[in-house]
Amino acid sequence: MRPEYIESKIQPMKRNLLKATLTLLVLLILQTRTFAQSPKFRVLALYSTNVESDHVDFALQAIKFYSRFAATKGFAFDTTSRWEDLNDEKLKNYQVVVWLNEFPHNQAQRSAFEKFMANGGAWLGFHVSGYNDKYTKWPWFVSFLGATFYNNNWPPLPAKMIVDDNTHPATKRLPKTYTAPICEWYGWKPNPRDNKDIRVLMTLSPENYPLGKKDIITGGDIPVVWTNTKYKMIYMNMGHGDKNFDSDVQNMMFEDAIMWLGGGK
Ligand code: ZN
Repeated sequence: MRPEYIESKIQPMKRNLLKATLTLLVLLILQTRTFAQSPKFRVLALYSTNVESDHVDFALQAIKFYSRFAATKGFAFDTTSRWEDLNDEKLKNYQVVVWLNEFPHNQAQRSAFEKFMANGGAWLGFHVSGYNDKYTKWPWFVSFLGATFYNNNWPPLPAKMIVDDNTHPATKRLPKTYTAPICEWYGWKPNPRDNKDIRVLMTLSPENYPLGKKDIITGGDIPVVWTNTKYKMIYMNMGHGDKNFDSDVQNMMFEDAIMWLGGGK
């Protein structure tokens, strides 16, 4: 057998091997890419459907808004109206918990949430989720939120906002002032600004006062968006009615806040 003949037999074998190796490599790369496309982080949004209809409207719109946003940013946005899902077993799958229009129903749910936050979990709370008064009897939550409900305006109205701090990742794209769409705004006592752990990001402009007709907020320093620096959390007073997502400016905060909480870019 001439050496050239042997060579010509081996060459195709080598080529086949090369082909097979390349195919395997491509498959591996594809698999890695698929893996990279698994959610950047996971959000569990809790809501209720048997609460004030304006609060249900908000929750349903928020679910639409965030589901769409999650798809473009590659995070998972799961929703549930079963508050019993606020338990250790379920929460271990999530990095961010959102309360769209209510709060835990019992001590077991409260405790699971406290543990989740103590272990580095993140929270985004809207509007009535921050509601607490003398009947709530959950001191941990009062220090976590840094505020207790005091008063509100009625009917819901648009209001001018002062962005106190746009160095925070959640408010970095916001102008110094803007007009927030129709909402019911809450006043707080104690004022979260007086709490050393609270960093206020946004406040009702005094230009709004008197705010309301039936229930009037006549004045005062009223923070609207803030974070407790001891936790990874943001509270936003927005969340009443079906106009909250009408502002492209405000929507940027809704987007940036959840990305910051989830640790995504
Ligand atoms: Zn409300």
